[in-house]
Amino acid sequence: MSKFAEIALQQKVIEGKETLTYSVPDNLNLQIGQLVRIPLKKSFTTGIVWELHNNIPEFRTVAIQEIVSEKPLLSLNQIEVAKWISNYYFCPLFKTLKLFIPKKILAGKPPKVRAKKAEQIIRSGIKTLTENQSQIFSAIIENKDNQNKFLIHGITGSGKTEIYTRIADHFLSQNKQVLILVPEISLTPQTIEYFEKSLGIPAAVIHSKLSEGERCQFWNKIHSGESKLVIGSRSSIFAPFQNLGVIIMDEEHELSYKQDNAPRYAIHQVIDKIQELNPEIKIIYGSATPSVETTERLANSTLHLKERIGISILPEIEIVDMREEFHRRNSSIFSERLKEEIFNILKNKEQAILFLNRRGSASSVVCRDCGYKVSCESCELPMTYHLKTFGNPALICHHCGKISQPPTTCPNCKGANIRFLGIGTQRIEEDLRKEFPEARVLRADKDTTATKHGFKEIYHAFREHKADILVGTQMIAKGLDLPKVNLVGVVLADIGLNIPDFRTGERNFQLMTQVAGRSGRASQKGKVLIQTYNPDNLTLTYVKNYDYENFFKYEITQRKLLKYPPFSQLAKIKIQNKSLITCKALSEKIHNLLENSAKELGLLDNLEITSYPGYIAKLRGKFQYIVFLKDISNTDLIHKVLEKLPKEYIMTSDIKIDVDPISTT
Ligand code: ADP
Ligand code: ZN
Repeated sequence: MSKFAEIALQQKVIEGKETLTYSVPDNLNLQIGQLVRIPLKKSFTTGIVWELHNNIPEFRTVAIQEIVSEKPLLSLNQIEVAKWISNYYFCPLFKTLKLFIPKKILAGKPPKVRAKKAEQIIRSGIKTLTENQSQIFSAIIENKDNQNKFLIHGITGSGKTEIYTRIADHFLSQNKQVLILVPEISLTPQTIEYFEKSLGIPAAVIHSKLSEGERCQFWNKIHSGESKLVIGSRSSIFAPFQNLGVIIMDEEHELSYKQDNAPRYAIHQVIDKIQELNPEIKIIYGSATPSVETTERLANSTLHLKERIGISILPEIEIVDMREEFHRRNSSIFSERLKEEIFNILKNKEQAILFLNRRGSASSVVCRDCGYKVSCESCELPMTYHLKTFGNPALICHHCGKISQPPTTCPNCKGANIRFLGIGTQRIEEDLRKEFPEARVLRADKDTTATKHGFKEIYHAFREHKADILVGTQMIAKGLDLPKVNLVGVVLADIGLNIPDFRTGERNFQLMTQVAGRSGRASQKGKVLIQTYNPDNLTLTYVKNYDYENFFKYEITQRKLLKYPPFSQLAKIKIQNKSLITCKALSEKIHNLLENSAKELGLLDNLEITSYPGYIAKLRGKFQYIVFLKDISNTDLIHKVLEKLPKEYIMTSDIKIDVDPISTT
């Protein structure tokens, strides 16, 4: 029997220590993962038994008081995953623990919930699979070549959801638990209902907007094994499964699968870790536009669905050259073509979506005459325009940090029609009202959907045809099923095209393909118009032709050439400070510390270190600088140097370490 236990708490207790050591009374039969009550500073608290050992500590220990939960709250594997997350993503254990166990359960005070009578769900059954669908299903289930990780690459409407349902059914019938991951719950109410009805059982639906009570209730049901079907956003990967059989991850490419506060985990890596510990769990990724990394990694276990089910076909995509519009003296944000199509939609009592790909406050600079965009001389990446951040208007290269004055005439054609791109959704709404006073317009963006049900309300109103046109940002690009929408307009593709980041091409391909997929879902006459000053942009050409294959070939070649993932490993350290001088000085300090460690360890040949101002140069009153690490040997050198950083640079709120970041900016 072990004499000592390391206990993990839900709050930080001592600087630099992740667990506290307690002695184990002889009469307690402790197990790792159990919740125990322990004395702490003249009072009591609760914690998780993290490790058991016989190493006599140098300090006097007190004894654990009692076991609060006989059944471990975490399995040994879950503890391994938690430890790994904590180390890999540089996140204190107490914060990591919060991912796994609801606060009140960890505190030993589970809220009392009145048991609601379980809703009866009548099983409607699963559709007979098409031949292609069945082949995919069999390939996944048969266990040929011991493959346990698959990618289903299928265009929207090709029947992926139906395959997921069938797979879920297979594992449920073996009495296994099933996890279906979706990028954003609020966008998928129909999907959840569909799974429940087809499978005939209620789902535990887990997402970030649950109340603490709801969270505890679901947690308990999964922990006891009562809940077999779990549908959730990224955090549901940490639910207390007892015998998980399969993880199905829909829209695998979505960026919301990466958490952007500590721990900044990427779910693909967490899934890999889970599978390493439980090799029998099957993993199924699905997407119409899979991420470049997953396509590359799972090239040998990718299953294709190339046709839509039924009569609907993919809508035709048309690229509209905005330079010509400008030459024809149309200075409106809508091209003549777009106006014409909107007019038709209104006439036919159909619906349209106008989409704006807006990120951050900075904008790029293009010439409206020739389409030239201002790029950094040394990096050849688009520079971005900042009106106020640096006192005077400035152009910044977010790669090398070069700052220059914005031009007043085009460096290419010498014309005076240089323009800083940055329209908002509000402006589009206003202009629509002017051009089409009779049209009913709804807007979905950060402002209008701030409340808990904000987006849902707008979505339902639009679906019920209480408006003719929906104007919105990213949030309207995904998964919506709106049968009356026959026109999608991308108002200005350039805003997204010019973001200086290695994932920009991929992001745009995915986003444009997805918005396009909102058009013509119930008919054969869907149209998509993409307005741009860069009609020859390669990404747009691939989007127009629905050409994932060539998009991927191009993209993967670029990544290989420029040494970006999956051919390298990255880490980003974001430094934030109210003072520009301090911010810059801190970034230089960290840059130097890392460079020195790399030198000492002999890693400088394979480790590139750069620093530059953030793409969003100032956020909530704080300047942002970035120190960026790239391990071109792809052998995890990143951790070797980051671990050498003094603690004061790692665990502070103004210095954020992001391992495997989704962007360089
Ligand atoms: P995806 O998830 O790839 O977008 P879905 O699974 O939602 O595609 O399928 C698209 C449409 O085709 C849905 O309306 C679905 O009910 C229908 N469908 C899918 N598979 C079948 C099938 N085997 N038989 C009949 N209809 C099907
Ligand atoms: Zn540069």
